[in-house]
Amino acid sequence: MKVVIIGGVAGGATAAARLRRLDENAQIVMLERSGYVSYANCGLPYYVGGVITDRRKLQTPESFHDRFRIDVRVRQEAVEIDRESKAIKVRNLETGEVYRESYDKLILSPGAHAVIPNLPGIDNERIFTLRTVEDTFKVHGFVETARPASAVVVGGGFIGLEMAENLRDRGLDVTVVQRGGHVMPTLDADMAAIAHNHLRSHSVKLLLNSDVTGFEERADGAVQTNLAQSGPLAADMVVLAVGVAPESALAREAGLDLGVRGSIKVDEHMRTSDSDIYAVGDAVQVKNYVTGQDALIALAGPANKQCRIAADNICGIASTFTGSQGSSVLKLFDLTIATTGLTEIAAKAAGLDADYVALSPASHATYYPGAGSMTMKVLFERGDGRILGAQIIGTDGADKRIDVIATAIRAEMTAADLTELDLAYAPPYSSAKDPVNMAGYMIENILEGRVEQLTWEQALAPVEDEVLLDARTPGEVARGSIDGALHIPLDELREHLNELPRDKRLRVFCQSGLRSYVACRILMQHGFSCANVAGGYGYYQQTVLDQEIRRRGIADCGVTV
Ligand code: FAD
Repeated sequence: MKVVIIGGVAGGATAAARLRRLDENAQIVMLERSGYVSYANCGLPYYVGGVITDRRKLQTPESFHDRFRIDVRVRQEAVEIDRESKAIKVRNLETGEVYRESYDKLILSPGAHAVIPNLPGIDNERIFTLRTVEDTFKVHGFVETARPASAVVVGGGFIGLEMAENLRDRGLDVTVVQRGGHVMPTLDADMAAIAHNHLRSHSVKLLLNSDVTGFEERADGAVQTNLAQSGPLAADMVVLAVGVAPESALAREAGLDLGVRGSIKVDEHMRTSDSDIYAVGDAVQVKNYVTGQDALIALAGPANKQCRIAADNICGIASTFTGSQGSSVLKLFDLTIATTGLTEIAAKAAGLDADYVALSPASHATYYPGAGSMTMKVLFERGDGRILGAQIIGTDGADKRIDVIATAIRAEMTAADLTELDLAYAPPYSSAKDPVNMAGYMIENILEGRVEQLTWEQALAPVEDEVLLDARTPGEVARGSIDGALHIPLDELREHLNELPRDKRLRVFCQSGLRSYVACRILMQHGFSCANVAGGYGYYQQTVLDQEIRRRGIADCGVTV
């Protein structure tokens, strides 16, 4: 059997290795347009930042051949698929020669290319994208030799923010320009506020709701980025990270069925509409595991699983891919931003009756030194309490909790199941009630009517006969509260019940939502009408701070944001 693989990085190289492990006799040819194979794109931003320094860790075609006996050909581009005769046309990018390569089975793993908008001045040499090793060496070389002092990063997704951090760490003055109202589409706006504040605290400037209209070269060589909503920005370099699009031209020209945004349609065995052609990775349409809807989810984890499945099926093992839920994690300076499943926006767009709890637990028992805090937003379906998604941002322990919740989503667990998870505990690592258990308890309390929950938006809406009650300590209140709120610390609440209005509903908040829940339970059992404000004052502060800075248009240090 002869298998040809187009694309030799995440999906292609993994498929090749799996094929070899399953079939020692298969003839396997792997074609890669760039000069490198089997590397981790995910590490590229950190080479620019100087965190990863050793180029020798890159796999070579020779080392890949030695281990797997695969015919690895770099700088070879597949330019046409002839399905009739089961052959592809390949162009040798070194010599220009075009030759045919026959196949019994073909695997397409061409990935996704960086979107390059058709804007005036886009071909300026100081505008970079980041996808391949070659791109990375280009950016790195420019940073090393030209010593730029400033950069504009267009796009506030994963790659944009990783580049912003790495360039900032190299001492550049960095501005992130983002078209939408917040960075990271995998976050809801309230959680993204935490990322905004953190970027600003590391002196990264943020321009939100900003559309780039074009670029110009200035007399001093700098690139001027023109914006629709504000004045131009001059910088020594620009990184474009405005998203990726599936590389499906070959598949389209070969007449294979396409799906969402031109991605390649595959079945659960990763087979395209031609039974001898498989496709995997960023180029293919997948099922969103939570909604069951068709989706495009470009991440390394799903790509790796899909290519194993394609190789299995080629070798007679009928394994299946059941969908992606978009679990992701990003390092943003000293913060971890981790997500899985649906955001609130995505859940609503999918027509689900979703609600969420927000909590700010410590990463481990606070009496043990070094505990960090995290903010968690966990989405669930009203009714049965099925867990739909989570966003966790923190300095420590966020990645561990997101993986637990990702597993719970995969197992279609409910809030009740979260409360029962038997998670490892010792003071340096967690609390006896882990934050994931806590999220489950909170959802259960809402579903079972033990407490009513309000979002901050609801809590701040002026409604007659409703008052805010701040259950925090005087010290906390002195550091800031909500205008007009009553203040009674939780521990003194029972002694002051007669000071509270019985004809009004109390909207109770504390710092994180926990003490206010306890306050609500006391109040309810004394006949008061009340609701707990999700996430507490800490959550409010992050969002309000972000909004306030955006409204004023200046940051504390005086820079435009
Ligand atoms: P790729 O790994 O991109 O490989 C496709 C290869 O096919 C390319 O090398 C291309 O040159 C080659 N090719 C295309 N067309 C042809 C052709 N006609 N002939 C020959 N060769 C061809 N994901 C995460 O989950 N976590 C991360 O932290 C993360 N960080 C990332 C950081 C960066 C800078 C980038 C670019 C991506 C990152 N990703 C991350 C995404 C992840 O790398 C991709 O999801 C994954 O690589 C997809 O695998 P793939 O095989 O589909 O495509």
